[in-house]
Amino acid sequence: MTSFFLELSYLLGSITFVVGLKKLSHPETARKGNLLAAAGMGLAILATILFHEHDGERIGNIGWIVAAMGIGTFIGWTMAMKVKMTGMPQMVSFFNGMGGACAAIISIVEYHSHPEGAAGYFVVVFLGLIIGSISFSGSMVAYGKLDEKIKDFSAKWLTVFNLILLAVIIGILVVAVNSPATFGPSVLWILLAISLLYGVLFVMPIGGADMPVVISLLNSLTGMAAAFGGFLYDNQIMLTGGILVGSAGTILTVLMCKAMNRSLLNVIIGSFGGSAGGTSAAKDDQTVKEINLTDAAILCSYASKVCIVPGYGLAVAQAQHICHDLEKQLEAKGVDVYYAIHPVAGRMPGHMNVLLAEADVPYPKLIEMEDANGMMNSTDVAIIVGANDVVNPSAENDPSSPIYGMPVIQVWEAKNIIVMKRSMRSGYAGIENPLFFHAKTKMLFGDAKDTLQKLVGEVKMT
Ligand code: NDP
Repeated sequence: MTSFFLELSYLLGSITFVVGLKKLSHPETARKGNLLAAAGMGLAILATILFHEHDGERIGNIGWIVAAMGIGTFIGWTMAMKVKMTGMPQMVSFFNGMGGACAAIISIVEYHSHPEGAAGYFVVVFLGLIIGSISFSGSMVAYGKLDEKIKDFSAKWLTVFNLILLAVIIGILVVAVNSPATFGPSVLWILLAISLLYGVLFVMPIGGADMPVVISLLNSLTGMAAAFGGFLYDNQIMLTGGILVGSAGTILTVLMCKAMNRSLLNVIIGSFGGSAGGTSAAKDDQTVKEINLTDAAILCSYASKVCIVPGYGLAVAQAQHICHDLEKQLEAKGVDVYYAIHPVAGRMPGHMNVLLAEADVPYPKLIEMEDANGMMNSTDVAIIVGANDVVNPSAENDPSSPIYGMPVIQVWEAKNIIVMKRSMRSGYAGIENPLFFHAKTKMLFGDAKDTLQKLVGEVKMT
């Protein structure tokens, strides 16, 4: 009877994961989807504690389990409550790394519990350990990079060294599975050490425009590692959860690669978009034109079509609500307003969609890059709010640029361009942006929230 309840709760949990994931695909239902999937996971954990049996024995050490869950819940809850919106990408990376670490620990523990296991069993144990450790250390480096604590480091020898490390890992895996006596139990620690090192060294050189791909790749690795844990425990819900995360992460990785016009292999060994150490200062022979708030308000109010291009600066300034106000004010004057969304704007996949949904911007107003580019030449004013790399024309016309080949929002096709940012500093890729010196561009310097607030005031008076 207890196994019936256990299976039933796993089935319910799996269904909530699938339905929750479906709901995550739209900003309006994403919150509910997240809660639903979390409730399903809660149910599965509770059912495991209450009903799981092994050789006729129920789970012991309940006190330890509850204490560990209490500590974990407290830390997770506190971090999630305290994190600022701009710190979300780092936190997601950190939590992703924790998932990888759990999968690696499961493999270490399980290795010893079935010493007589078949070769297939050890393949699963070692793959869980390798992928989980790579995901853990790689996510920690990604966390450090997003938090600007770790700088990119790339060198030709590093690429070669990384390939050698990967070959060594695969070699040890093959030997350890076919001839377990060669390394004995120490194989665990050898694989753990090399995989951790590989995770660090594989993410170190990847920078600038390639980070979004790496982040989604690390997500999918954690999912895969969790799925291997599901195999080991013959646990359907862990398997389902792992497969869902792994496959969703893989699809996201493919989409990100497409968005960046790159192949995954190129990202992993090519180190495109690493911080170029580019100067952010204006070139001597180029000057920027500025616009004041009144003129900007007149330009926008008398336009027929205005495009807002949000970027990371919108998140930093927390200007999404006031941005929505500007859109409403302009629409009240008969201006058609839309948002052009670049797939890697901000610091995490879907960052701009999340921010704008939080401010209740209607979803149909968010136009994806390809469609937005098609609309750009009929647009009177493109207002760039804290975006930089995603509107950099060098990606299209400067083969020497580290972001050459990455699709960008072609704001220069609009009749007028207003750029809101605080200074001439570069964006994440660390390179200069010729758009700021373009004949059509006028700079409106200042914090995005502050500038937008004043601009809304001016638009009201126009
Ligand atoms: P960028 O990082 O290129 O530029 C953001 C700009 O915002 C900066 O130039 C900054 O200029 C400005 N800014 C910062 N704070 C404010 C503020 N308070 N008010 C006004 N402006 C501000 O952002 P984009 O969104 O254009 O591009 C995203 C970049 O991040 C890409 O290179 C992408 O590859 C990378 N990335 C994306 C990830 C993802 O998953 N989406 C993950 C990791 C990296 P100033 O300081 O002068 O104000």
